[in-house]
Amino acid sequence: MIVIMEPGATPEQIAAVQKRVEEFGFSTKLAPGAERMVIGIVGVPLPDTLKEALERLPGVEQVVRISKRYKLVSRDFHPVNSVIRVGDVAIGGDDVVVIAGPCSVESEEQIITTARAVKAAGAKLLRGGAFKPRTSPYDFRGFGEKGLKLLAKAREETGLPVVTEVLSPNEVDLVAEYADVLQIGARNCQNYLLLEAVGRTHKPVLFKRGMAVQLEEWLLAAEYIAAQGNDQIILCERGIRTFETYTRNTLDLAAVPAIKRLSHLPIIVDPSHGTGRWQLVPAMMLAAVAAGADGLIVEVHPNPDQALSDGSQSLTFENFATVMPQLARVAEAIGRRLPLPETTSEYAMMAPAE
Ligand code: PEP
Ligand code: MN
Repeated sequence: MIVIMEPGATPEQIAAVQKRVEEFGFSTKLAPGAERMVIGIVGVPLPDTLKEALERLPGVEQVVRISKRYKLVSRDFHPVNSVIRVGDVAIGGDDVVVIAGPCSVESEEQIITTARAVKAAGAKLLRGGAFKPRTSPYDFRGFGEKGLKLLAKAREETGLPVVTEVLSPNEVDLVAEYADVLQIGARNCQNYLLLEAVGRTHKPVLFKRGMAVQLEEWLLAAEYIAAQGNDQIILCERGIRTFETYTRNTLDLAAVPAIKRLSHLPIIVDPSHGTGRWQLVPAMMLAAVAAGADGLIVEVHPNPDQALSDGSQSLTFENFATVMPQLARVAEAIGRRLPLPETTSEYAMMAPAE
């Protein structure tokens, strides 16, 4: 249920609504808009008597029940865009934010050189897997805590906040000790106990869409995180399973404007897992930003042909640095920004003049 206040409603009138809701045993969440305050109320079931009581209060324009099955993450509940802050980076604001790094942390040298290279090209966060969900149990499954320590070292060296995946509810505390953003991978999109466990932390969550998960199911899954009190959720479209086999997944870019209609949460795109082929990644990076994505998460590796995971979809430093200035121009063309470091990297300098 949401309470839409009149445009000139006073702070006292807003406080009176909150007090009345609390008297009924429910809590409120304020969503200030440009013209008026919207007050969200969480709880099931919310009685009609509460709706009627609130409609009688001064300053209240309308009380509306939210008919969608997901509430906290819905745009009805919170009409303005949410901005998620990670250190001094804001995701969901005017700036397009690029997260980059290897699929897996493989060595100190690998993660630190990659962190430096992606930062020089304009990435604002570093990705790297320490706990890896692998389709085959015999593949490289990550360094675990040693990988987290290497990520922390790369953060110390470069100042880039770190995004890394957590696979199991009993590893959430450990991963949260090192990570700035907890990633929930596609395979765990509907692992509700894991979602609740990250929902009990105060860390931002990068929440990937499952490979066969519909948008409503995805938002209902996000609601599990929000319902535990953590609404710092960044959605990530990473491709879905279709009949096509040329690409690893089919990158559903229509999910971006669709999610913008349905939810106030920021949405970013992963063109690496979305295509599975590095040659397709730059074009999909540009297309994702053109479609309105708030950011990207891209796999970058010093030697993709030697990567322990996902080498075939990883960009070299050079390829990454080449696409970033193009991405900045697309962002600008749609009224957003992608600020690049003043000193462009040697690779960007090598990009062909246009
Ligand atoms: C990853 O980010 O390396 C990963 C495993 O992604 P996804 O969960 O989208 O497959
Ligand atoms: Mn990967």
